[in-house]
Amino acid sequence: MKEIDTEKIKQRLLTEKSLLLTKLSSNDLSVDDTETPDPVDLAARNYSKNVTLAVSENESRQLRLIEEALQRIDDEKYGLCLNCKKPIQPKRLEVIPWARYCLSCQELVEQGLIEEER
Ligand SMILES: [Zn+2]
Repeated sequence: MKEIDTEKIKQRLLTEKSLLLTKLSSNDLSVDDTETPDPVDLAARNYSKNVTLAVSENESRQLRLIEEALQRIDDEKYGLCLNCKKPIQPKRLEVIPWARYCLSCQELVEQGLIEEER
């Protein structure tokens, strides 16, 4: 079986993490509530604010997954499915280094058949 190069994955996760942090902090700066409200403008701004919030939520979630993956590397548990505890396919980890589940368990998660850890 192909060995997983955790050192390489760790570097990739750290790079990904700093990119996300940069994105998240620039989002914060773009939200500005101090200007005089004009109803039309306000609606537009609220809309874009909601979009920004939704994006941040996704990014925060990914950030959490990345941090968990880094933790699993430190604990030497990296690459094991959180559900069935079997090794996650190395190919899958190449595409999604922060994957928590193997392919078959991920499908069950998406179908709501496995309660996903939060
Ligand atoms: Zn699994």
